[in-house]
Amino acid sequence: MSQYQHIKQEAFEANMQLPKLGLVLFTFGNVSAADRSLNAFAIKPSGVPYHQLSTEEMVVVDFDGNVIEGDLRPSSDTKTHAVLYKNWSNIGGIVHTHSTYATAWAQSQRDIPIYGTTHADHLTVDIPCAAPMNNEMIKGNYEHETGYQIINCLKEKGLSYIDIEMILVGNHAPFTWAKTAAKAVYNSAVLESVAKMALLTEQINPNAVKLKEALIKKHYDRKHGPDSYYGQ
Ligand SMILES: [Zn+2]
Repeated sequence: MSQYQHIKQEAFEANMQLPKLGLVLFTFGNVSAADRSLNAFAIKPSGVPYHQLSTEEMVVVDFDGNVIEGDLRPSSDTKTHAVLYKNWSNIGGIVHTHSTYATAWAQSQRDIPIYGTTHADHLTVDIPCAAPMNNEMIKGNYEHETGYQIINCLKEKGLSYIDIEMILVGNHAPFTWAKTAAKAVYNSAVLESVAKMALLTEQINPNAVKLKEALIKKHYDRKHGPDSYYGQ
């Protein structure tokens, strides 16, 4: 059996969650799962419909984007995943979708304002939207440069990928990450839900104000702080 079987299985299961959660249409979207000790990740093959996927079809790639194992071509976004794994040593899973509400914010080139406690349960700041890529990056190694667009956006905003596990790429769509592929999928679903709530909030009240600091802190800390008390 392949030494990569566990990440192929993890990637397959996480990919299959995307259509179940309503985050993808047709072949859009991809999830990868990494094993840091093997310097490799497994990712969905390019253009294969979800109902035809199997664990065996997952493609194993190194952190430079070279295929190590698999008969099919990896997802066209593979180089973006590779750049993020290479630069961020603490992540083990990445998701890219074109989920409707998060993508609408990306197309509007707007950060998602922190309007409520659902948002604050997961992060304490607006969900960042990276600027659309410049012509040079688009004409060059596009998917590779998309990775750097994400990394540089967080750097410029003084944010850490450890605290902020989601981003929008302007005019494109969301990317999320986490320690595991399953948690990265969870983050994609949270992002989509928060994006929908923020849009509705602005529709109901165009002058809606952001959550106040005391509530942001309360909600984040009860899930993530040293004295967290959410869950069992
Ligand atoms: Zn895309």
